[in-house]
Amino acid sequence: MCGIVGAVAQRDVAEILVEGLRRLEYRGYDSAGVAVVDAQSNLTRIRRLGKVQELADAVNSEQVSGGTGIAHTRWATHGVPSEVNAHPHVSGDIAVVHNGIIENHEELRTLLQERGYVFVSQTDTEVIAHLVEWELRTSETLLEALQKTAAQLDGAYGTVVLDRKDPSRIVVARSGSPIVIGLGIGENFLASDQLALLSVTRRFMFLEEGDVAEITRRNVTIYDQAGKLVEREIIESNIEHDAGDKGQYRHFMQKEIFEQPMALKSTMEGRITRDTVITESIGVNAVEILKKVEHVQIIACGTSYNSGMAARYWFEDIAGVSCDVEIASEFRYRNFVTRPNSLLITLSQSGETADTLAALRIAKEKGYMAAMTICNVSGSSLVRESDIAFMTRAGTEIGVASTKAFTTQLAAMLMLVTAIGKEQGRIDAVKEAEIVEAIHALPVQIESALAFDKQIEALAEDFADKHHTLFLGRGEYYPIAMEAALKLKEISYIHAEAYAAGELKHGPLALIDADMPVVVIAPNNDLLEKLKSNVEEVRARGGLLYVFADEKAGFEADESMKIIPMPHVSEITAPIFYTVPMQLLSYHVALIKGTDVDQPRNLAKAVTVE
Ligand code: GLU
Repeated sequence: MCGIVGAVAQRDVAEILVEGLRRLEYRGYDSAGVAVVDAQSNLTRIRRLGKVQELADAVNSEQVSGGTGIAHTRWATHGVPSEVNAHPHVSGDIAVVHNGIIENHEELRTLLQERGYVFVSQTDTEVIAHLVEWELRTSETLLEALQKTAAQLDGAYGTVVLDRKDPSRIVVARSGSPIVIGLGIGENFLASDQLALLSVTRRFMFLEEGDVAEITRRNVTIYDQAGKLVEREIIESNIEHDAGDKGQYRHFMQKEIFEQPMALKSTMEGRITRDTVITESIGVNAVEILKKVEHVQIIACGTSYNSGMAARYWFEDIAGVSCDVEIASEFRYRNFVTRPNSLLITLSQSGETADTLAALRIAKEKGYMAAMTICNVSGSSLVRESDIAFMTRAGTEIGVASTKAFTTQLAAMLMLVTAIGKEQGRIDAVKEAEIVEAIHALPVQIESALAFDKQIEALAEDFADKHHTLFLGRGEYYPIAMEAALKLKEISYIHAEAYAAGELKHGPLALIDADMPVVVIAPNNDLLEKLKSNVEEVRARGGLLYVFADEKAGFEADESMKIIPMPHVSEITAPIFYTVPMQLLSYHVALIKGTDVDQPRNLAKAVTVE
């Protein structure tokens, strides 16, 4: 789930490993640890509950030396966050770090206890350490011991093992949790994310599902699931080196909110002309596939699910193609029926979201005409396993609460929808040009939304002492309200809900009182009059209203209703535009509350466990 870093080098690696963990901090974690072995087989293991900085201080004060090592940031799944449960876990000469979950850990624990192993932690991970220790007794190599171990493990994992007696190598297995190998000169590295290794290399090899590899200073040897020796392509990373810096901003989330105009520009680069969408730019065979699509099934989790829900309105309205959107963890466990000529679309910032990935794998067996992913991380599992990868190119997103990944997903889907409409003759050149013009205008439009920062900062004071907030929208603004509620929950810990405004009288109206701020997203569209009636329903019950309204929408402020007038923008891209003030609102509320904005409690960035 969280971070793994490993190294085999001649120089001391403890600091490199800790620096790698630092770069993975954005994923969220509760403890950190490192184990390093020197050429004389002396093993040093240091673990700390809390921040990587505490581990770094301990590593510095103990002057840890050794050229081979493994390190980990843990996001507890089995056993409380504590130093004893922090990785690496040790059994005899073996040290292990592990991301993910071992589902059959209880059976294995019993078996290993019968063999005489004593468990010191509550983690599922410890079974890996003892199993490798056991298997090594009857194996020629550490790699063989790991292969035998992997065959006994159920669940999702990326795990790295070192043997104190042989400091010349580390071995690694990937099954459901990403591992990348970083190639150096006379030294090699590995990590759960290439970001961790950008200070030491830019040349990477991505392990595939079921791969087991041995890494020495000079060689990387990889075997696939069937035990066959395989080569994996070397990819030169194009991730910006300084993605991990906050620059002038106070938080990564703030930086990422303000990066949106730039991120959107890069999403649309090379994909639109002045007045058309370039269908071929969506992916190989996109033209043939999009011509035939009769149905779209979107699968996603969290923020990506909300963007799918918003895009659904476009798929049906602009492209005339029926569209269903489902939460991946539900979809994967039900017996679904595949519609004819259905395109499966997975949405994920990281491309490693465990439930979405599992849903993709299941769906591929069920006769979808093609699988497309709309994703932000190249080389990720979703990208590699889909027929078409339509990259959002938002740049690295570090804040746990997703912002630019959401708006760029929406922009990508708007281009996709337009391409489908065009290829199927559902929209004419005039309509296409109108949409493309609106897309071109997005970066400037978003700049104008960002200009509300100060005004929203002042407004945030009204929310910080409340325990609940309700967000209302209609049509495609209902999912935008859902995303607004999710953001507020994630980073300010205020309970927030979104309702389709028409649903108010079917229940939530009972909640309205002066302690429940109600935020309304009110662009000037066909549903405005209906929305105004809903606003009156709230006002009549003494609710406190905050209406983000198109300047021409004609709302009148009074003591129970604040109006935040928004410039008039194209109706096509307005859902993307209205997302931004919602992001700023949750950010400023969180600032006032003093929460950990970039690493909110209990959450992790890439959810690689189900
Ligand atoms: N399941 C393991 C534990 O609880 C690993 C968690 C992680 O991925 O960080 O220790």
